[in-house]
Amino acid sequence: MVQPTPQTSDALHRRGLMFIMSSPSGAGKTTISRMLLEADPAICLSVSATTRPMRPGEVDGKDYHFVTHAEFDRMVENEEFLEWAHVFGNSYGTPKAQVKAGLREGRDYLFDIDWQGTQQLYQKLETDVVRVFLLPPSIDELRRRLTGRGTDSAEVIATRMERARAEISHWDGYDYVVVNDDIHQCFAKVREILHAERMKRARQTGLIGFVRELMRP
Ligand code: ADP
Ligand code: 5GP
Repeated sequence: MVQPTPQTSDALHRRGLMFIMSSPSGAGKTTISRMLLEADPAICLSVSATTRPMRPGEVDGKDYHFVTHAEFDRMVENEEFLEWAHVFGNSYGTPKAQVKAGLREGRDYLFDIDWQGTQQLYQKLETDVVRVFLLPPSIDELRRRLTGRGTDSAEVIATRMERARAEISHWDGYDYVVVNDDIHQCFAKVREILHAERMKRARQTGLIGFVRELMRP
């Protein structure tokens, strides 16, 4: 008779994690996030809802769920968000339903949210959260990147530069801080963090049964 394949330690069930990446605008968060999503099919982007207008090239449901202020307020009232915040004069929030179910099934989520959202998620779901903050190698390089990106007017760049110091001041609210000097080195470090965090004992929910089996007399 064919014996069932024993469950190996590689196939053990684990709980998903919430991988939060924040940075001052222009430090490279979007670039590193895209690289990560492309390289690692086990992590997907948590799509936020926002009241801000859609930018050229953005896709509703992929980059954000674009909603009206009234819809956003209704979602807040119905407690549909894990967290939400006002950023740059608009509202942004993380819808609850998809992420909660996904985490149970072992799916990992990438969050592109600011420090306020990070604090709220950490307060609610501390053990599921991994907080990564990216820093630019220098303020001059940050300005060069914002200018080189070519998406913002001189005025917007000046505002972002002004805000950068305030954003950097939240660096100690994160579990990992990575300086994005060389993009490939930075990406490699971010992947190492994700890989190690996946292996944490507390996330490996299948371990209990596995160890019990190992210890059976
Ligand atoms: P953020 O999402 O943090 O605002 P982006 O990912 O849009 O930042 O990066 C800002 C600009 O800097 C982009 O033009 C990007 O190609 C460039 N960039 C990102 N990381 C690096 C790096 N390590 N070295 C040089 N340029 C970079
Ligand atoms: P943008 O409008 O440029 O896409 O995003 C502006 C800022 O809002 C960024 O700092 C981004 O991290 C933040 N943000 C995007 N989605 C959310 C969210 O769901 N919650 C919170 N708290 N911040 C968000």
